Amino acid sequence: MPIHCEIVSQDRMVWSGEADMVVVPGASGEMGILANHAPLLSTLKPGIIKVVRDGQEDYYTVTGGVVEVRPDKVTILADASEHVTEIDERRAEEARKRAEELLKKTPPSTAEHLAAQAALQRARIRLDAVRRFRPKSGPQIQSGAPEDKG
Ligand code: ATP
Repeated sequence: MPIHCEIVSQDRMVWSGEADMVVVPGASGEMGILANHAPLLSTLKPGIIKVVRDGQEDYYTVTGGVVEVRPDKVTILADASEHVTEIDERRAEEARKRAEELLKKTPPSTAEHLAAQAALQRARIRLDAVRRFRPKSGPQIQSGAPEDKG
């Protein structure tokens, strides 16, 4: 029996639909959620959400948030979340470099240093998700229609 799932971030509905299982990075470890799960509320660590449906797996990043589970519904309120195909790899790479520079420049335990650590973690999760879970594309197709030479 499927469970209804909603992944909501601060700025949009990332995904909603029926899932056979949803695996989230709970505060005290990975949690696999099936229909008829006991109600619970948990915070989420930055990591990966796996949605299994019809034998297929979909992967979303989550940078933190909360999950509310009811027997028929799982709601993930994410600080930020992207499906693995939505991640802009170059942007994440730039965010990683910026955070690493800031870590070098700022004294430990300052607010800026802690913010840089969190930014580095977000960037690493996105880069790791792309590397591990983005479907490999075939030969690159040139964007735009071929020129009509007729
Ligand atoms: P950046 O410095 O690149 O903005 P960030 O880690 O500070 O990265 P967040 O605050 O986590 O960004 O997210 C802000 C918004 O931007 C969210 O909607 C998030 O989904 C989106 N976002 C952040 N980084 C990426 C990325 N690399 N690819 C696609 N969307 C992203």
